[in-house]
Amino acid sequence: MNEYDSNRIADLAIEQGYILTDKILDTDCYVLNTCHIREKATEKVYSDVGRLKKKFRNKKKPIVLITGCVAQAENENMLKREPYIDAVIGPQSYQHISKILSELDKRKKKINSTEFDVIEKFDKISKIKNTESKVSSFITIQEGCDKFCNFCVVPYTRGPEFSRSPVDIINEAKNLISNGAKEITLLGQNVNAYNYTKGKEKFKLSYLINNLEGLERLKRIRYTTSHPKDMSKDLINCYRNTKKLMPFLHLPVQSGSNNVLKNMNRKHSRDEYLAIIKDLLKIRPNMKFSSDFIVGYPGETDKDFEDTISLVKEVNFINSYSFIYSPRPGTPASKIENVNNTIQKKRLITLQTLLKNIQIKKNHNEVGKFKEILVENKLKNQEVYFGRSSDLTPVIIKEAKSFDIGNIVKVKIEGFNHHSLSGTKKIIKNEEAA
Ligand code: SAH
Ligand code: SF4
Repeated sequence: MNEYDSNRIADLAIEQGYILTDKILDTDCYVLNTCHIREKATEKVYSDVGRLKKKFRNKKKPIVLITGCVAQAENENMLKREPYIDAVIGPQSYQHISKILSELDKRKKKINSTEFDVIEKFDKISKIKNTESKVSSFITIQEGCDKFCNFCVVPYTRGPEFSRSPVDIINEAKNLISNGAKEITLLGQNVNAYNYTKGKEKFKLSYLINNLEGLERLKRIRYTTSHPKDMSKDLINCYRNTKKLMPFLHLPVQSGSNNVLKNMNRKHSRDEYLAIIKDLLKIRPNMKFSSDFIVGYPGETDKDFEDTISLVKEVNFINSYSFIYSPRPGTPASKIENVNNTIQKKRLITLQTLLKNIQIKKNHNEVGKFKEILVENKLKNQEVYFGRSSDLTPVIIKEAKSFDIGNIVKVKIEGFNHHSLSGTKKIIKNEEAA
């Protein structure tokens, strides 16, 4: 989501006459977009700004904006602690960026823009052309969270759940497709909680997926991140009724233990989670899953951790994110005694080794197969191309040509490592490719 937000922030600055540069010393305005999900994020901001200060020691100071959830959480403190920062702008205040930039151009006082005005934000953002021109593009459709898991800062930094209007989303999708997008990933902190109400009508995520399915030049549809509680029947049915929705789902579970899930306030049990996986596999037997795990949550026992391990073995997640629990200020879990850090680290290594072995085994099994790969770009200074399989695995492709960018090609897989596959583009009959 921060990638999407960064692009939209750039679009707002472009509207003010700025252009993007990758040469730091050329910048008149430096935007640092931040994430607050785990600790150390705040300190990283200060050290980054410190480095910037050094670089600009003998030059005209650029305007420095801190955006994102660290700005939201730290607020005024940030402006006081680091005078080099000109403005802090929270995730629901990006609509003010144009105004903030023009005020800062005139060198007025420091600006704190951290109010929650998500309706106004998307109103503004929907009116500005999305200049993104990638084969695979993002659209934020939903933001915020009402679930209040006991460990998480998102409900405090991104605010309550909000869904954008379907008309704006479809228009943005059409715009991205005309810029060359062939794959669209719909984004939200709880993307499947998407729920837009107009009069008596309710529009859910399934409505958007079915609509995108009808957009001619679009080849692939994805969405992330989902909460198990919101995997409704209509959404599961999309896997039956649509061709473009990819057979891959990132569905964070956090833990395989019912005790921990309850302590986390996750609002679902292990069995409910497994039932969703089973329902999806019934419809799409080739479906693959990935997840997020928190290891060493307060109160997690050896037995609880074993339950996570057994869940991983049962589902065979192909690609996952796992983290040691990080106490976040202001959350209920931060008030409970933490698990010993040595135990946390040991458990993380056990879990990550298992996840890695499953991924390696899965990638090894792909060798010799023909896969359908959406070609995204050519690798810099190399004669190979980059693409992704239907389950989002990165693939390095030999023998592809520039005209393949944006197309789905058949690739014979010849090599693999932990994260990715490699192979050669082949021209074969349709039915041989998977
Ligand atoms: N809404 C999604 C996840 C959004 S946050 C869901 O509920 O599944 C992204 C991920 O960050 C979470 O899935 C979780 O694994 C991780 N995370 C959030 N807070 C954390 C914390 N305090 N410590 C460690 N990991 C955390
Ligand atoms: Fe955080 Fe996700 Fe829980 Fe919301 S549902 S509080 S975003 S982990």
